[in-house]
Amino acid sequence: MSMKERILLLYNLNKIDNELNELISLRGDIPAKIEDLSSEKNQLDERTNELRGELDEINSIENKVQAENDELLKKIEKNDNLLRSGSVKSNKEYNALAKEIEDASTKIKENEKSALEDNTDRKNTIDNELKLIAGQLEEVNVELNQNLKELEDLTTQTGEEEKELQTQKDDLLKKIEPEDIAHYNRIANVKFGEAVAVVRKGSCLGCYSSIPPQKAIEIRTADKIFTCESCGRILIAEELITA
Ligand SMILES: [Zn+2]
Repeated sequence: MSMKERILLLYNLNKIDNELNELISLRGDIPAKIEDLSSEKNQLDERTNELRGELDEINSIENKVQAENDELLKKIEKNDNLLRSGSVKSNKEYNALAKEIEDASTKIKENEKSALEDNTDRKNTIDNELKLIAGQLEEVNVELNQNLKELEDLTTQTGEEEKELQTQKDDLLKKIEPEDIAHYNRIANVKFGEAVAVVRKGSCLGCYSSIPPQKAIEIRTADKIFTCESCGRILIAEELITA
């Protein structure tokens, strides 16, 4: 393959890349917005799970305490019935049963105070935060779905065109020397995809700096790949494209 052909292939690659970039730029900041909203949603979901976990833990402690209190109440009732039945003969036995009732009542009160009352504030705080998060989540979801829909519409419109360009690009890449692709990519990465510039009337159209006449002739002859001394782009003489 002649050097001229190699340069022309790079020029064509650049043209396709420009069209692809234009299609992608139509999406604007939608992909970035989707990413932000998704991460916000994940954070809110995580916090929700955290709070629900804490709530479950509190509820399980409360249930345990409630079960213990139920047992104690049963015991009180049982002792109470015994005392009322008149079947208890000795004072010692009577006092023992009465003491059990007293201890059980004290324990029930303690349980209610420590486990049940202390948790009320925390549970309210959690409930409020959960409600707040639910509201935020709803807003985030609405916005996220809007953006996803918008992106989908745009992609539907441009998808066919993009696929066609990508096919053209893949075909083209197969014809280009690997070292030329590497060279092209190095420049494209720092020049926002503009790796090739046309030389017209002694100027680089990439950066509009002028090119010495002798070099301009060499670029037209295209015996090797020249790059612009001021912007670094691969140069191609306009005559080569229109020829
Ligand atoms: Zn230049």
